[in-house]
Amino acid sequence: MFQLFKLTLREKKWVVLSFLCTIFVAFFSYVFVDMIQPIIDEMWGLGSPAVQAAPAKFRFMDVVFRFLHVSKQDIRLVLPFIVVVVIFGKGLFTFLSSFFMKAVGNKVVKTMRDDLYGHILYQSTGYFDKVTTGDLMARLTNDVDKIQQAVSSAMSDMIEEVFILLALLAQMFLRDWTLALSSFVIAPLAVIPLVAFSKQLKKKGLQSQVKMGQIYSLLHETITGNRIVKAFTMEQFELKKFLKSTWSFYKINLKLAWISSLSSPFMEFMGGIVGAFILYIGTKRIADNQISPGDFGAFAIAIFMMFTPIKRLSRANNVIQQAAGCYGRIQEVLESQPQIQDIPGAYPLPSVKGYVSFENVSFSYNESRPVLFDVSFEVLPNEMVAIVGLSGAGKTTIINLLSRFYEPTSGKITVDGIDIRDVTLASLRSQIGLVTQDIILFNDSVRNNIAYGLEDMSEERIVAAAKAAECHNFIMELPEGYETSIGERGGLLSSGQRQRLAIARALLKDPPILILDEATSALDSESERLIQSALAYIMKDRTTFVIAHRLSTIRNADKILVIDKGIIVESGSHETLLKNEGIYRKLHDLQFPEVEEIG
Ligand code: ADP
Ligand code: MG
Repeated sequence: MFQLFKLTLREKKWVVLSFLCTIFVAFFSYVFVDMIQPIIDEMWGLGSPAVQAAPAKFRFMDVVFRFLHVSKQDIRLVLPFIVVVVIFGKGLFTFLSSFFMKAVGNKVVKTMRDDLYGHILYQSTGYFDKVTTGDLMARLTNDVDKIQQAVSSAMSDMIEEVFILLALLAQMFLRDWTLALSSFVIAPLAVIPLVAFSKQLKKKGLQSQVKMGQIYSLLHETITGNRIVKAFTMEQFELKKFLKSTWSFYKINLKLAWISSLSSPFMEFMGGIVGAFILYIGTKRIADNQISPGDFGAFAIAIFMMFTPIKRLSRANNVIQQAAGCYGRIQEVLESQPQIQDIPGAYPLPSVKGYVSFENVSFSYNESRPVLFDVSFEVLPNEMVAIVGLSGAGKTTIINLLSRFYEPTSGKITVDGIDIRDVTLASLRSQIGLVTQDIILFNDSVRNNIAYGLEDMSEERIVAAAKAAECHNFIMELPEGYETSIGERGGLLSSGQRQRLAIARALLKDPPILILDEATSALDSESERLIQSALAYIMKDRTTFVIAHRLSTIRNADKILVIDKGIIVESGSHETLLKNEGIYRKLHDLQFPEVEEIG
């Protein structure tokens, strides 16, 4: 609640404007009530005994009449005119204050969304292992919307209605404080339920948001994975899961609806009781000649006019309570610090030659299960090193550590002798070209996907990279060549084509360190052979890490690391490893049963 106020204060100018307009709205409400007394006493009750005896009190309208030099006879003529002015004034300022606050809401929400998105982009890889896309999406859309509602309408209602209430209270007390005080004795009857209702609303509102996040997660999973769902004919299963989620979402919302629908009529009923009591006291006060019928009329109108603000306040309170829950969920995202950040005093990594060393590196994704044990190796500039091992052995993990997507639990990784923890993330990653197992392409043109992250790339270089990666021919066959949009996640291309695009992207970046993590696994032998020769040429002047299952592709590596269950069990050249008669030899014999001896 307090934080929401702080949020709105970011847009001081608009808030102040809206605030000023609100004061005018309250002022016009005050005057409106004040007009009631002369309307009743002067226009309808003129000449009646009650009016002749009307007790003298401070009345704002008397000041107005005196200021306008309106004589008692003319009041009848002037009043209708004043009514129009007052209602117009109230309307005008209501419009202005509402518009200004809506502007604030929209601005606050834009900033918040931008902050969130920026924050999420900079989170470390480990963060995305833990969160679900759908939940994050829900927070970015649904929760932010709730906050917008709160800031745009509820916040301004809060301020406006409080002022109006104050104006009306002033009316009541100035007119007859005895009557006003006695009204207040039973007013708590109407206020206490308000508190109880809003507590419930906040609790249920939060539950509803959490459910919504789950629904988004399910949606995201099954829409992106629709092929797998179909292939395994899991539609019924997924549908059931979804129905279960929407059912509990529905139940919570039903409870929410119950509470929020009940709150207004219930409060109104309580208000009615309060009103009946006031009617009783009021008529007594007139009979005792303490107030005129006009005064009581004005008093009653003031009480009636309080209904709307109180109702709106309770509604605004509901919205704000819900938004407070959402704000917490957003804060949760904003407060999670990226685990891997530039250390204070991090400096940009100078252009490297490509000397990479792992010194006793151990690592686990989660404390319970270590993935790498005491891994040490050295790679000289321009060497090609291959990492071989069964799937799940920890090959990709080594690469993840080198790119600093994760940080070793112990040990040290250096590039050109510099500890990668001491340099900025951006400068490290800019010198690493990465082609991963799962190719990430964006819903953009072929050209922009190849030149991703590289501005002002000349057409020739893009085409040259595409040719080297054996992409050019199939790109030219696409409907719009390099301008063809390749669909979400490159869905309009075959997996082999996607891999080749990713290789072209890495080649164009021309980094001193190139990593190919099963980058050619989806290629047919023919394309792979073609790319191999291109790659061999490119690997000459850079350090290259190759992870491949097909041992034929790594035969020429300067060094082969064989990793098993997170431990480097063998290393050396193809020939030495074959002579070793170890794991590598076994893998090799499995793939080339006909070849008995090499060299
Ligand atoms: P591979 O040699 O096939 O590339 P990885 O390095 O990807 O193997 O994985 C090594 C081990 O780490 C596997 O047992 C895998 O289950 C686990 N693992 C990989 N990524 C994560 C992750 N993000 N969170 C937790 N465990 C992971
Ligand atoms: Mg892997």
